[in-house]
Amino acid sequence: MRLLGPSEIRELAERLDVAPTKKLGQNFVIDANTVRKIVKSAGVQPGETVVEVGPGLGSLTLGLLEAGASVVAVEIDARLAAALPSTVEAFAPGSALTVIHQDALIIEVLPGDPTRLVANLPYNVSVPVLLHFMEHFASIRSGVVMVQAEVGHRLAATPGSKIYGSPSVKAAWYGSWRIAGTVSRQVFWPVPNVDSVLVSFERHSEPGDEVLRRRTFELVDAAFGQRRKMLRQALSDIFGSSAAASQALEGAGLAPTRRGEELVLDDFVALARVV
Ligand code: SAM
Repeated sequence: MRLLGPSEIRELAERLDVAPTKKLGQNFVIDANTVRKIVKSAGVQPGETVVEVGPGLGSLTLGLLEAGASVVAVEIDARLAAALPSTVEAFAPGSALTVIHQDALIIEVLPGDPTRLVANLPYNVSVPVLLHFMEHFASIRSGVVMVQAEVGHRLAATPGSKIYGSPSVKAAWYGSWRIAGTVSRQVFWPVPNVDSVLVSFERHSEPGDEVLRRRTFELVDAAFGQRRKMLRQALSDIFGSSAAASQALEGAGLAPTRRGEELVLDDFVALARVV
């Protein structure tokens, strides 16, 4: 079994007439060591089913297959989705690969109940893709994703930091997230103009049901939509007035003068329970 290096990527792209697009966040990994680092940090086990979002030309897919996983790959680009099986057949014959040509933002069914998500995510949609997968695919227990550094730090942020925001709280609904490493820009073709990090997550049990989740996320969006404002003001539309917002906040044991950026997920959940 072989992984893809710079010359294989160049050759494949030429043969498929692929010019990477910014719109689809197409920066392909050209370095086998980086692929192995991602697969190792994800703890991929032989025989398990891993879902990969955006396999592209197959760099990471081959690394996952090399580790003995079955891979379900979701790719929006028709040419890349169509070409992946033959690339895998050439580099890793007989591997267990299922390619789904679909938008990862709207996919609702995945075969094989994947237990892990491992992906070099398209940067412009990485947070919505992650939240969509956590919401819809409960079989996913853990994973490692490569994202833009700023986004990765946001996902793993805790209250009190400037970057703590709605993605941090929403991600915490599903699991715990941490930065698992940094990745050089030079491992991509084309070289992106942002830095990348690896983020790992472990799912934990959710604090409540779907109704509570929706209510919590609505409060989170409102609180961070006006993050400099006190919560009694930021949430006044949701509760009808700032007096009603103050009452609800006090009912949840929160001072109405606090700001969203100071609250942990449990505070938002407590508030959602009194709505
Ligand atoms: N995994 C490959 C690698 O590491 O070389 C490619 C990663 S590239 C950063 C992102 C990939 O996601 C591209 O192949 C792109 O076509 C695909 N993509 C972009 N938006 C997508 C979406 N909404 N659903 C599924 N795939 C998407």
